[in-house]
This record gives sequence, C-alpha cells and structure tokens, in this order.
Amino acid sequence: MLERTRNIGIAAHIDAGKTTLTERILFYTGMIHKIGEVHDGAATTDWMEQERERGITITSAAVTTEWWQRAEEGTVKLFPEQKQRINIIDTPGHVDFTAEVERSLRVLDGAIVVFDAVAGVQPQTETVWRQANKYHVPRLVFVNKMDRTGADFDNVVAEVKEKLGANAVRILIPIGAEDQLIGQIDVVNQKAVYFSDDDKFGSTYSVRELEGELKQIGEAAYEELVAAVTDIDEQLGEKFLLEEPFTLEELKQGIRRATIANKLIPVAGGSAFKNKGVQYLLDAVIDYLPSPLDIPAAVGMDPENEDHEIVVPTSDNEKFVSLAFKLWADKFVGKLVFFRVYSGVVKKGDTVYNPRTRRSERVGRLIRIQSNQHTDIDACYAGDIAAMVGIKNVTTGDTLAAEKHDVVLEPPTFPDPVISMA
Ligand code: GDP
Repeated sequence: MLERTRNIGIAAHIDAGKTTLTERILFYTGMIHKIGEVHDGAATTDWMEQERERGITITSAAVTTEWWQRAEEGTVKLFPEQKQRINIIDTPGHVDFTAEVERSLRVLDGAIVVFDAVAGVQPQTETVWRQANKYHVPRLVFVNKMDRTGADFDNVVAEVKEKLGANAVRILIPIGAEDQLIGQIDVVNQKAVYFSDDDKFGSTYSVRELEGELKQIGEAAYEELVAAVTDIDEQLGEKFLLEEPFTLEELKQGIRRATIANKLIPVAGGSAFKNKGVQYLLDAVIDYLPSPLDIPAAVGMDPENEDHEIVVPTSDNEKFVSLAFKLWADKFVGKLVFFRVYSGVVKKGDTVYNPRTRRSERVGRLIRIQSNQHTDIDACYAGDIAAMVGIKNVTTGDTLAAEKHDVVLEPPTFPDPVISMA
C-alpha cells in the first residue's frame, strides 16, 4: 500500500480554486470508491450537498481518499491497479499562515500548486513556492479555471518558468479555453480527451488521429517533454543520446525521477469543474509525486545530545516515531492529534512517549478522516497519516514515539538526484 500512498498538500493563492479542487477530488474518488465508477448527474450533486452540510471533509487537517486507478487503452500505469491512497494535508493559503504552511510542508511528500488561469502567478504563491523549494518538496502545477474569460494557459506556464524559475513542462494541455474549453491533451500518453456536455467521461482519441493545429501542439509538447526529461535524467538521457528507443513506462519513470529530484515541474491545465481533468491530475499525483518510500529516512536527534543524529527509516519494522503536525477540536470526537508516522507502527491502545514532556500517554482511538466519514482504524503504519484521540499533553510539532525512545524529529530531507525505485 505504501508504494501507492501519497501524502500531498494543495497550495494556492486565495480564490484560485483549492477548495473546489479538494472537494472535487474527494467527490470523484469517493464516488469511485463507493460505487466502483463515476456516477452521473443527480446522485453526485446530492452527495456533494450532504458533504457540505456535514462540513467535515475539506475543513479537516488531513483527509484520506482511496480509489482504484484505471488504465485506459494505450496508456501505462506505473503502479499496479490496486487501491491508491492520497492523504491530502491542509496547507492554509492565507499569507498570515506562512509558518503553518512551512510546518505542513515537512509532513507532506509532494504538493499540487494551483494557479488561476486568468490571474497567473500571484505574489503570495511565490512565498509558498520558495518554502517548497527550501524543503525540496516535489510539485505539480495545476492551472485551474481554464473556462474563465481571459484564461491563458501558456501565459501561466511562462510565468511559472520566469517568475518562479521552475523547469515547467506541460503534461496536460487544455483544448480550447473560456466557454470553449472542450478537452485536454494528455501529452505523455499522446491522447486527446474531449469532455462531454454532461461532464461524464468524454471521448478519447490518439493525438495521431487529430487534425491540424491540435496534432501539432500535442506532438510538439511531447518532444519538448522528452527533451526536458532526457536533459535531466541520466538513465533516459543516455538512451536518448544513443538514439535507443524507450518505452512509455520508461519515460514516465524518468518524469517521476526528475520530479522527485525537484528538477522538473509537470504542469496540467484545466478546470476543477471537469471530472475528467481531475482524474488525470490524480493519475499524475500517483505517477510523478513521491511515495513515502521515496524518502529513505527522516533524521531525528537525541534530545539529550543534539549532535547525535538518529536515522528514522520508513519501515514498519522499526521503533515507532511520528510527528504531531496539527491539533484539531472535533465536536463529536474531542481533541484530534493529526500525526504522520515516519517509522514503525502505532496501534490503538498503545502508549506513546513525548520526548519534550517526557510523558507517556495512551492512544484511545486511531481515526482516519475520509471524505464522507471518520473511520476507526486499529493501526497506522510507516509513511501514513491519521489522527489520535486521547493524547492531551501535546503541541504541534512534537515528536510522538515508542515508549522511552528518545528521539526528536528534524524535517525530512529529499534524496537528490537519483531516487531508488524499490
Ligand atoms: P480557494 O480560495 O482557493 O479555496 O478557492 P475556491 O475553491 O473557494 O474557489 C474560488 C471561486 O472560484 C469559487 O467561486 C469557485 O466556484 C470558483 N472556481 C473554482 N474552480 C473553478 C474553475 O475551474 N472554473 C471557474 N470558472 N471557477 C472556478
């Protein structure tokens, strides 16, 4: 499961569409999870309304969504089609919360940065971007609101390159804009997808079958992508120089390595209102953003001796070490402590130790916040995120570890430049 788990944040300037996108991801994956496929019209709206009334989902510190990724004809999935899990960690968008954004960046492994296709790169997003650079957080860019008047995808891509200095490459190019936003070109798979009027799944074509300008755009973007990736990634670069062919899977692995190494920013354009676009964005999250296994180990230290580093490997077979990254008062459950496990396993009923307070407390309940419910779980494993109930003496940023395991976590670092794909 860990290989198919992603801990991500969604960062955006206020109003760019972070809430809508999060809601759509929860809605879309929730529907797939529940019914096995995307449902149509009426049912989905009801479901969304219920969600809004309960108001638990997007207002939470971290929400888990699980679904089955489906391959379409002629596409390649890097991860077997089993259950995928994305934990979405809330990163406040407002500038006053900068410190909190920094803290949550340590907990997440990757991020989607959302831009408004009309407003482009805004000053506050530059701040968040720099923080993500500081912590080496791999990112995807989503250029949202392509259906708005004045939307300009290529302009935003240019701004991402110029203002943010990012090596941005287009992986999903909107077809049309404004009220003529009719689909997307999937550059990697060389597919064009047309949204259908009722926003269910549209028709898919190979780029080769397209006509005129679109075919040119799709093919040129593919060449640009290959050039960017082969430039960065040694494995693919070598093949490219020797004019050896590489497979679609190898290309995707190359994009993945380059993105995780923070040397490439895949960019998707579309609208959070379009389910199909959301699906592609999720596929990109799974394919290109790191799993907890891509971060070999967090580094902690002995609180008695700060020079003494303690390696905290991402493995279930180690002593339990986690970071409490957010406290939350839930009116039904009480005080929730959101934590990320770096090493080991925590079970309901276990006693956890806080090196700061030097006290141990018992984990009364373990809870996973999902799009439509709180679920009690028996255990939480290395790399995953959940909430504990029953821990009182804790503040945000505390390490919670196995009893008498004296270790304090430092921010995890990201490997560079070559990532093992174990
Ligand atoms: P946040 O502040 O980043 O969380 O932004 P919201 O998700 O609340 O969105 C701000 C406004 O933009 C809301 O009125 C949304 O309905 C609207 N919005 C979000 N996504 C899109 C989109 O793709 N197209 C258009 N036209 N409007 C959008």
